[in-house]
Amino acid sequence: MTQKISVLIIEDEKSICDFMTKTLQSHDYKVTAVHNGKDGLAMLTSTLPDVVLLDLGLPDMDGMEIIKKTRKWSSIPIIVVSARTQEREKVMALDVGADDYITKPFGTYELLARIRTAIRHNNRLADDPIHANRPYNAGGLTIDFDKRLVIVDGNEVHLTRVEYKIVSLLAKNSGKVMTYDSLINQVWGPYADDNNRILRVNMANIRRKLENNPGEPKYIFTELGVGYRMLEDESLS
Ligand code: CA
Repeated sequence: MTQKISVLIIEDEKSICDFMTKTLQSHDYKVTAVHNGKDGLAMLTSTLPDVVLLDLGLPDMDGMEIIKKTRKWSSIPIIVVSARTQEREKVMALDVGADDYITKPFGTYELLARIRTAIRHNNRLADDPIHANRPYNAGGLTIDFDKRLVIVDGNEVHLTRVEYKIVSLLAKNSGKVMTYDSLINQVWGPYADDNNRILRVNMANIRRKLENNPGEPKYIFTELGVGYRMLEDESLS
């Protein structure tokens, strides 16, 4: 018998906690749920779950503290469960080491997709450093990292060096959101001007080159106030 994937839910809102627990159990996940930060940290170290769903507003602790403490010793995927109004918090959570976030209210499909993506990324980083460089493929877009080739529906697309760097970072993290700051840091370095204008200008050019309809992007999505998310690589398994 294969081992079930284990999920730790740290969430004090009972209705959301119950929804996530039932949904995940019915899809064959092993679920542990706790309702405050202290129990969360204890369960994290004692059960070593495959993935953590974390509410930031806990009764005894800021969820941000849990992310920081956990990142000192573990790369367990952490998905923040947040309210729609908490853009700044989402960004901070991602920047201190959360893997992704999901915004309340969310549906079953979205919850399951986020969990699968987070686990895949973590496995890929851990077991498969060679495959980290294999081509990206999704919905007609191919990126060959070794040859620095970008192909859309069979046609080569010419990107500037900066545009290519942005696209390849997003592709290597496909399915996951990348914050504006993390992109800017990785493309222009830590001393880059921290306004997002230059990134937005580049993104507009990238979309003009990659997307059939830049107003309704199919490959690179905007997560308002947070960053960008690229369509998940189909060859991830
Ligand atoms: Ca809460």
